[in-house]
Amino acid sequence: MAKYTESKCRLCRREGAKLFLKGERCYKGVCAFERRPVAPGQHGMARKKISEYGLQLREKQKCKRIYGVLEGQFRKYYEQADRMKGITGENMLSLLERRLDNVIYRMGIGSTRSQARQLVTHGHFTVNGRKVNIASYIVKAGDIVAVKENKKDNKYFAEIKQMQVGTMTKWLELNPETLEGKILALPTREDIDSNIKEHMIVELYSK
Ligand code: SF4
Repeated sequence: MAKYTESKCRLCRREGAKLFLKGERCYKGVCAFERRPVAPGQHGMARKKISEYGLQLREKQKCKRIYGVLEGQFRKYYEQADRMKGITGENMLSLLERRLDNVIYRMGIGSTRSQARQLVTHGHFTVNGRKVNIASYIVKAGDIVAVKENKKDNKYFAEIKQMQVGTMTKWLELNPETLEGKILALPTREDIDSNIKEHMIVELYSK
């Protein structure tokens, strides 16, 4: 599978925003974007006038990078969102939030979405009692996402239990004792903290 190989901090500098791709490091004084908030490369400091199209393109890139999704799959989310009832941009963000890797991240079990994705692809989780190792699996309201029974004692999950981590959002809850999470409702726009102007992405794709 294709994946981003560029430095994660470089992506933040490119998008002109903190994308929080490195977990704890992003909250410390060592954040590369805080130290050097300009685009990477020789001409990063140069002031450029960006066209409407350029702004829309950057917004799409930023969103893709936050969720760690590649172009083809990202466009599919847009197309699916466009076929759904409601506001396309909000539907698209809701679908991205409902990816299993993002759910694990929101449950506080992975410190970044990429770490959560790795845990999912390594087969550590079940959804409604069945093993799921597909990071793009879309959860539904009422689903139970849990660490597999035979993995709960592994060192990483035992530490998570001890830390009594909590979820970062109100549309799902985690029981830190059992390492089981429940999807209480589908995420709405207000539940999604990411600084994304989704209407610009819709404008870009609908041209
Ligand atoms: Fe982005 Fe800063 Fe985190 Fe690096 S440390 S990924 S620049 S937010």
